[in-house]
Order: sequence, then C-alpha cells, then structure tokens
Amino acid sequence: MDIGYEQLTLSKYYVIFKIIIIYFIKLSDEISMNLRSKIYIAGHRGMVGSAICRALKARGYHHIILRTSSELDLRNQQAVADFFANEEPEYVFMAAATVGGILANSTYRANFIYDNLMIETNIIHSSWVNNVTKLMFLGSSCIYPKLAPQPLKEPYLLTGELEPSNESYAIAKIAGIKLCESYRDQYDCNFISVMPTNLYGYGDNYDLKTSHVLPALIRKFHEAKITNQPFVKVWGTGKPKREFLFADDLANACLFLMSNYNDKELVNVGTGVDLSIGELANEISSIIGYEGQISWDSSKPDGTPRKLLDVSKLRSLGWKSSVSLQQGIRLAYADFLKSAYAELSVA
Ligand code: GDP
Repeated sequence: MDIGYEQLTLSKYYVIFKIIIIYFIKLSDEISMNLRSKIYIAGHRGMVGSAICRALKARGYHHIILRTSSELDLRNQQAVADFFANEEPEYVFMAAATVGGILANSTYRANFIYDNLMIETNIIHSSWVNNVTKLMFLGSSCIYPKLAPQPLKEPYLLTGELEPSNESYAIAKIAGIKLCESYRDQYDCNFISVMPTNLYGYGDNYDLKTSHVLPALIRKFHEAKITNQPFVKVWGTGKPKREFLFADDLANACLFLMSNYNDKELVNVGTGVDLSIGELANEISSIIGYEGQISWDSSKPDGTPRKLLDVSKLRSLGWKSSVSLQQGIRLAYADFLKSAYAELSVA
C-alpha cells in the first residue's frame, strides 16, 4: 500500500516535470527561431532567397517551406491568403522582389512598383492574419534620399528627395517598411525591416539589360578577354561610389537578426566600405585577367553619386561582414563560369 502511494507520488511529480519541460520548449519556440520552426522563404530561387535557404539548411533548419513563382504568384492576394492559411508558417523571410540594375529600374518603372507593392502587401497582411511569430522584410539602400549625408544612417529615411532612376522601386520598398511598422503599431506584430546595400553573389543576374553593375562587369570583362577585345564599354563616368556585399554574407546577417533583433527601426546591412565604379572596374578586370582598356559610356546614367551605409547599429548588435570584395568577386566569377552565360560568351 505504502509502495503504491510512493509510486503514485513519483508519477505525479514526473507528470508535473514533463508539463513544465513542454511549457518551456513551447515558450522557447515562441521566443526565437529554432530547428523545429516552420520557416517560409519567399523568393528562394533568387540570389538572396537561395543564400538564406543555404544558410538555414547549413545550420540544420529542416522545416522550410518553399514555393516557386509558378506555384505561387505572390502578387495574387487570394493565392497568398490560401497559402498562408494552409501552411501556417511561424517565421517568414521576405526575399521575393522584382529587382534590377539602373537601366531596368528606370525602364520598367510600372513593373517595379506594382510587383513589389503587391508582393509586400499580400505577404505582410497574410502574416498578420495567420499569426506569424516573426517576419523579416528585406529592402534596399536606395530607400535613402539621393543627397543624404554619408554614411547613410537609419534615421535618414524620408528626409529628402529620392534618386529618380530607381524611385518606383524605392517607393515600393519604403511602403514595405511602413507596412511592417504599421502592423507592429496596430497589431503588435514582430515584423522587422533590414536594408542591404548593393548585393552580388551566387546565381546573380548576368543579363546586361537588367543586371546590376558587378555581374555586368564580370560578364563584359570575361567576354572581352576571351574574344580579345581592345576595350570594354562601362556605363557612366566611373565616379559614383557603391558598397558591395556578398549575398551569403547578407544571409548570415539575416539569420543573426532573425534571432537577435526585435525593434521597429530598420537595420542597415553592409560592409561599411565603398569604392568608385572606376575602381571596381579595375578590380574586376584584374581578377579576370583582362589586359585591354576601359571606355566610359557617358550616354548611360550614373545614378546616385554615393550610397554607403552606416553599419554601426548592426556592429553594435554583434554582426560584421566576413567576405572581402576581392574574395567575393573571385567566388562570383567562378560561379559565372559554371553558368549558361559563360557558354553564351564562348558561342
Ligand atoms: P544602382 O546602384 O541602383 O545605381 O545600380 P547599378 O548596379 O545598376 O549601377 C551602379 C553604377 O554602375 C551606376 O553608376 C551605373 O551607371 C554603373 N555601371 C557601369 N557599367 C554598368 C553596367 O554595365 N551595368 C550596370 N547596371 N551599371 C553599370
């Protein structure tokens, strides 16, 4: 009888102990992303989304939800609403966007503003409706005023006129930041905004009509080298300055911020170092081993004179970029050589 009572008492403690453990596991699940979390990466086929996907998988996250744009058109409100209701993700990385370089941005203004506004509105609203624990919105350094003091600090947002060549895109990205802030204020959602500088990396866009400068120059110098061209045409004057971050570095920063940052104010992500387009062209040309000349095409726009991010906030949180520009260009060039674009160059 006594033994039975002791057993009963022990099993009672065991049940209480188990309940406490389950409670703490649930609590920690709600507080921060962990290997059990259900994570949706919007735009996982893009350069940034695929880098985030690689970073998550490398750390052992396995409950990752992915949809290609043909499986889920993020501009379609009902499709996005149904997807979120069915999948109920806990964490969302918003890396889906219509993006492009200076020429694409000024040529396809309607696509850039419409696609990005629809994608952001649908995902952010559905994340609130379906109680997403935390969402990270990815913007761009072009949200800052064209002539803002350098380096660009987070509070400079909306303090002046934007650069006209990417105004539609910038307005859409500013709307994304304001959506996150508004849902935080009104509904207490943990939606954060991260502003990366100019990016490059694996799986970049090498189409010269729509690409950014760094992949464009990799392709141009490579083609000029293998076809023995005496000079390479580079757009603008070469004087504007830009900062470049390797996309896998950005992905590491995103994972860091998803676990360590919960405030309303946006956070810049960059290297804190910039260089002129002329210096970049020389660097890429020497890494590729091109021995000809550079010819500047001043019929093409320079865009904003400078957009160096102030990364002191991110550094004070404890994150710093680790891939140098030279290392990054070498990695990107090796990736380019494996792509279909390199085959096109040979043809
Ligand atoms: P931005 O940072 O939004 O201006 O975007 P880009 O990466 O497209 O352009 C950055 C700078 O590089 C601008 O001053 C461009 O004129 C210059 N640039 C030089 N050559 C090229 C090129 O072949 N493609 C692109 N996209 N930009 C180039």
